[in-house]
This record gives sequence, C-alpha cells and structure tokens, in this order.
Amino acid sequence: MSKADIGLIGLGVMGANLALNIAEKGYTVAVNNRSVAKIEDFMVAARQQGLDGRTLPEADLTAFVRSLRTPRSIIIMVKAGKPVDDMIAQLLPLLDKGDAIIECGNSLSSDTQRRFDALRPEGIGYLGVGVSGGAEGARHGPSIMVGGSKEEWHNAEPVLKAIAADFEGESCCAWLGEGGAGHFVKTIHNGIEYGDMQMIAEIYGVMRDGLGMDAAASAAVFKRWNAGPLNSYLIEITGLVLEATDGETGRPLVELILDKAGQKGTGVWSAIAAQELGVPATAIEGAVAARAISARKDERIAAERIYGKPGRGSIAVTIDDLEKALLAGKIVSYTQGFSVIARAAEQNGWGLHLATIARIWRAGCIIRSRFLDQMATAFASDASTNLLMVPDFVQVMKDCHPALRRVVAAGAMGELPLICLSSALSYFDGSRQAQGTANLIQGQRDFFGAHGFEIEGRGSDLHGRWPAIIDAAAE
Ligand code: NDP
Repeated sequence: MSKADIGLIGLGVMGANLALNIAEKGYTVAVNNRSVAKIEDFMVAARQQGLDGRTLPEADLTAFVRSLRTPRSIIIMVKAGKPVDDMIAQLLPLLDKGDAIIECGNSLSSDTQRRFDALRPEGIGYLGVGVSGGAEGARHGPSIMVGGSKEEWHNAEPVLKAIAADFEGESCCAWLGEGGAGHFVKTIHNGIEYGDMQMIAEIYGVMRDGLGMDAAASAAVFKRWNAGPLNSYLIEITGLVLEATDGETGRPLVELILDKAGQKGTGVWSAIAAQELGVPATAIEGAVAARAISARKDERIAAERIYGKPGRGSIAVTIDDLEKALLAGKIVSYTQGFSVIARAAEQNGWGLHLATIARIWRAGCIIRSRFLDQMATAFASDASTNLLMVPDFVQVMKDCHPALRRVVAAGAMGELPLICLSSALSYFDGSRQAQGTANLIQGQRDFFGAHGFEIEGRGSDLHGRWPAIIDAAAE
C-alpha cells in the first residue's frame, strides 16, 4: 500500500472522529492507539462509513511511523499531560529531521511551549493545536486554534483547514502565534465556555426556583431565545436538554440528573492564567468556583437544613429581563476572556489577532454564536481590546445592564445563587467608575505596612502620619 499522508495516534472520542474526518476529506490517514481494541473498533466504524480505503491501521508504533509519507506529520490526540510527553519520547527515536508532531489535545500552553522548545533543536517541528467542538465537531468540522512555527503551519494548513468548520465560506482554522499560543487560546475558549454554561445555569435557576417554571416551560423560552441575539450552540442545546424526558419515569431528564458538575482542568487553568496575568476574569473564576460548590453536595444539603430553602415563585423579574441579563453577562465575560488573551499575547510576544480568534470561534466550537460574528466585526473595525468600549457593544450594554441589575437584585433578595451574573455586574460597575475605592485600600496598606500612596500633583510613595494603636491587652 502507498504511504499515508498523515498519521494519528490516539483513537479516543476526539481522535477517532478526527481521523474519519481526515479520511473523508480525501487524505490517507494511518492510525495507532495504545489499546489495540480501539484500533479494531475504529476500523469497523471506518468500514461502515466507507472510509476504510483511506485508513491504515498500525498497532506497532515503528510500523506506523514507517507507513507515513516523508516528511512525516503525526497528530497526537491522547490524554493531556504525561501521556503526551511519553508519546513524544516514544516517537522521537523513530522520527527524522523535518518531521512534525501536531498535538491536538487540551494541553497546558506552558507544556506546549516546553515541548516546542525541546523539539526545535532536534529538527522536529511541533504544533500545539486547540480543537473544539466535541465528538460531533471533530467528525464534521471543529474550530481549530493553531500554535507553533509558521513553517510547520504551512505544511499542515491544507489538511487542518480541510477538516475544520467553516462559517459562511471562511475556515474556522487559523494559525494564531508561536509556541503555546494555540493552546492558550483554547484554554481561554474553555474558560469562556465555563462562564457561558454557568450563566445559562443561573438563568435556569431563576426560572426554576424564582419563577416556578417547569423544565418544559424553560425549554420553550431557551428555544425562543435561540432565534434572537442569544443565538448560539449552548442556548440551542440548553433548550434540547431541558425538554428531554426520562424513558423510565416520563419526568424531565434534567430533574433526575445529579447537580454535581466536574471539571477537567482547562477552566481552572484559564482562571489561573487570568490571575497570573493580572487580568480580572470574574466570570471564569465564578464559573470554576460554582462547579466546586456544586461538587460539595453533602455540605449543601447540611447547610440547607440550617439556613432553609430559597422560596419558589417568589421573585419578580420578566423573561425579557432574563434574556437581556444573560446577554449583558455574556458581553462582560467575553470582554474579560479577550482581555486575558490580549495580555498574554503582549507578554509572550504572540501578536494574537482578536478578530481572527472571534472569527474561528463562529462555527465548529462549543461557544459558537451569532454574537461572535458581531464581535469579529467589532474587533476588525476597532483596535480596542476592551469590548465594553467598542461602539456596537456599548449600545447593547446600555440597553441590557439595567435588566442584569434587576435580575441580580431580585436573585439576591430571593436567595438565589448568581455567582457569575452578579460578578459580571460588579465588574461592569467597577470598570466604569472613574472614582473607585482603592484610595482607602492604599491608605490601609500604608497604615500597616508603609507601602506608600500617590496624591495627584504631590507625587507617589507618600506616607500618612497615622496614629499609633496601643494594644491595651499587651500593656
Ligand atoms: P478519550 O478518553 O476518549 O481517549 C483518550 C485517548 O488517550 C485514548 O486513545 C487513550 O488510549 C489515549 N491515552 C491515554 N493515556 C495514554 C497513555 N499514557 N499513552 C498512550 N495513549 C494514552 O479522550 P478524548 O478523545 O475525549 O480526548 C483526547 C484529548 O482531546 C484530551 O486532551 C482532551 O482533553 C481533548 N479534547 C477533548 C474533547 C472532548 O469533547 N472529549 C474536546 C476537545 C479536546 P487507550 O485507548 O489505550 O486508553
């Protein structure tokens, strides 16, 4: 058999679907997986889909590498972390200078940068690629965020663009920057995804516990919203999840699902990245915290016994307010996410282009939405990296923030947890307050630690003559 165009290691959910996608686009793909059973399952699926003629199974890693056309391109799609390092270590003795590894898992961008730097002297190219869209996206067109050297990108571009989603004829795959840039952007994509999902869940909570709406009624509202400014994949699937019923009991499935959400790492990494870069990203942080609270089911049950259950049907907000509150919250969340990306780009010299990022998120990925198309246009026409200052979004925020305020206020009085929506509102208010309150913090810091403060017209590193506090107990 002639050599394969590309190799793919890791036939899990994502890898198997990506390999089928590659074969469907006319490339011959050699596949390898640690457990042989997955290779067999994959070949059954390939045969069923008429793609076995372009898929080449190789259980032995050496035979797999030899089956590839040179210079070789090998996609690794295994569990992130040590398995990626182990796989690179196994591959390295089998590769020749000029070959390239394209790592597509959810890797930490600093790991990607380290691997990129380590492989460069060996003459092995390395692309760290973020892929979003779940199994369906991987099979039929994900959003693909590429990081690494431009040379490797040019070699991999035809196949990566062929398998990516497209939005009105534009590919949702782009090279974003050197080293870990692609994985960094994917991490923040996932952080934004956490924020979106949490805000949607909070709105569902207001509907359920504040307005007494059942799942079917909430589903109908989300379905209606999907035809408006909130149009997005996550709003669409929320409607579908809420209307699904359990085959056994006939009850809404969502009412039977345990209210504990897990997290795999990218949400936490995005919150840590924001903190390390000194960029406030309260929506991402709130969403990560909310998942941690959700995981403590036993503690929540015990605390509800002490403090009582929030009342049902007890708050007064309109469905229109909820829609606008969610839109305003999302704008704040995306503002924060893009600010994190902009700061990271500055710090790492990545030259990330925010309009390109918004463009490749318009289709294929989990946060795809109509809203991202507006964002791409806004970033393309305005160099500002602060979405809250971009004219189109200023208008939407002016229209929607009063609704966000009413929802947060009503939620607080109705004892409903709105960790993301309320922090989005506080961020918005804090970000537009010319005279803040950190003057007091600076005073306190100087009082106890002589940290100094600034007074306009008098200079910085000034100190107050604070009174001494005598500890009576110590005398
Ligand atoms: P799965 O759990 O479905 O598959 C994991 C794959 O990794 C299997 O092929 C497994 O091989 C392989 N693997 C695990 N450990 C090792 C190891 N030590 N050495 C060699 N191979 C190993 O994962 P997914 O396909 O869901 O995810 C793959 C990557 O893609 C992850 O980084 C994930 O975070 C990322 N991702 C996942 C998305 C999703 O929606 N699922 C979306 C976007 C990215 P074996 O069969 O032998 O166990």
